[in-house]
Amino acid sequence: MKKVNVFGLNVPVKRVDRVGEDDDLGEYKDGEILISNKVSKKDFMTVLLHECFHAVSHRLGYRQAIDSGEEEIIADSFATFLVENFDIKAKRVK
Ligand SMILES: [Zn+2]
Repeated sequence: MKKVNVFGLNVPVKRVDRVGEDDDLGEYKDGEILISNKVSKKDFMTVLLHECFHAVSHRLGYRQAIDSGEEEIIADSFATFLVENFDIKAKRVK
């Protein structure tokens, strides 16, 4: 997967050696999703879905309605819920 479609906006997904100053697992920033190369294949989808939540939140303007701590909790819990209950695989984005 090279990008995700976030309500009509194509958001590139890039694997990188280091994410942000804190060497995080992933980040949504400046219209891109970055995922650390240290994320295992097993954890990749959870991290990707977490960052996709941030992209959706930004795109739809939730960021004005919920604070960043709440956004982290929702992103984490929903990504984990999805991965634990569904076999999720990426579609090809045109
Ligand atoms: Zn987050």
